[in-house]
Amino acid sequence: MARTNPHYDTLAAGYLFPEIARRARAFAAAHPGVKLHRLGIGDTTEPLPPTVIAGLHAGVDRLASVATYTGYGDYEGDPPIREAIARHYRRRGVEIGLDEIFVSDGAKPDSGNIQSVFAPDSVVAVQDPAYPVYVDTNVIAGRGGAFDPAAQQYRGLVYLPCTADNGFFPDLPAAPVDLVYLCSPNNPTGAVATREQLARFVAFARARRAVIVFDAAYSAFIRDPELPRSIFEIEGARECAIEIHSFSKTAGFTGVRLGWTVVPRDLTLEDGEPGKVNRLWRRRQSTFFNGPSNVVQAGGVAALSDAGLAECQVVIDHYLENARLIRAGLRSMGLVCHGGENAPYVWLETPGRMPSWAFFDRLLEEAHVISTPGSGFGPGGEGYMRLSAFGHRADIEAAVASIRDGLRG
Ligand code: PLP
Repeated sequence: MARTNPHYDTLAAGYLFPEIARRARAFAAAHPGVKLHRLGIGDTTEPLPPTVIAGLHAGVDRLASVATYTGYGDYEGDPPIREAIARHYRRRGVEIGLDEIFVSDGAKPDSGNIQSVFAPDSVVAVQDPAYPVYVDTNVIAGRGGAFDPAAQQYRGLVYLPCTADNGFFPDLPAAPVDLVYLCSPNNPTGAVATREQLARFVAFARARRAVIVFDAAYSAFIRDPELPRSIFEIEGARECAIEIHSFSKTAGFTGVRLGWTVVPRDLTLEDGEPGKVNRLWRRRQSTFFNGPSNVVQAGGVAALSDAGLAECQVVIDHYLENARLIRAGLRSMGLVCHGGENAPYVWLETPGRMPSWAFFDRLLEEAHVISTPGSGFGPGGEGYMRLSAFGHRADIEAAVASIRDGLRG
């Protein structure tokens, strides 16, 4: 008799965003005619720049003639996109081999799937709060253990607190761990790791033979030249880190779908020769995935061209200015917020550290603003809200004005 994977039953809660949508729908049904302002889901809103659109069109056109038609491509992405990605790293002084780059349909699948190449009993550390995919996929794989409702934590995972006191970047794990997920710029806190902070984790991982899974999905939002955009800017990272990237927030591909993962050949685990993780990830991708869309790859190559990057930066500047407006608006009301400087998320402390869902309801009812409760990203997010800077300028301004005018005391 068939049985389901029991680990799904240990998942603590449904995904955060359906609950947000449910509460927003209930409010809208009870208050017809009230306009809701959305600072919730981190989804891009601005059209793709012309160079990227031209690249996508060219990809479609190639399918229209016998001479240029292609079907299945390389599982890891065709050479032009991998060359464009390698060139992109080279601009920052980082050398990555074409056989170390695995192009995919996005950073979410990669950050969820990468755990499958590690031992089932690996001890996993996550930032708290964190993008929920790291926790949930390891729970589904059986690494979570029982959920402790009092602590709102899985007993089998190691939580690395990210608080105002440590600048929302964690201290090194006190307990032995095998895998550490780090995300910078961070979703949800908007914090960006410094070179020194990453170097400390790289030294830790090399000493303990642990692996860092580094999610750099928001690296294009980093404006400060001193801040690292890739963990491979840190010496020694090739021996201990995997990096995951996305075109979603860089080039507006949230619906188009394209990302990549770098698995260095030098990455070596306790039980394998150098290159084994690279080989296993290739095996995993070629077994479960048939390669990214050829049309989309053409758009990705265009996005990483000099003209494409410059045009995409204009769009990112738009979101960064939105973040500035949100921060300035909230601070002018005496609210305390973090992040949003080299990142598209503002991390707002709830007044009096009110529980996140309670403040979500207040923002909804009093200011008609949809936000994201910080507690949805882990217990360390309790007492915070994530506000997303993705939006049209007029909508962001209206949302900030509505908080200013509507939020009571
Ligand atoms: N990683 C982080 C930290 C994210 O916040 C997101 C999207 O919100 C993703 C990955 C997903 O990226 P993609 O759209 O490429 O799957």
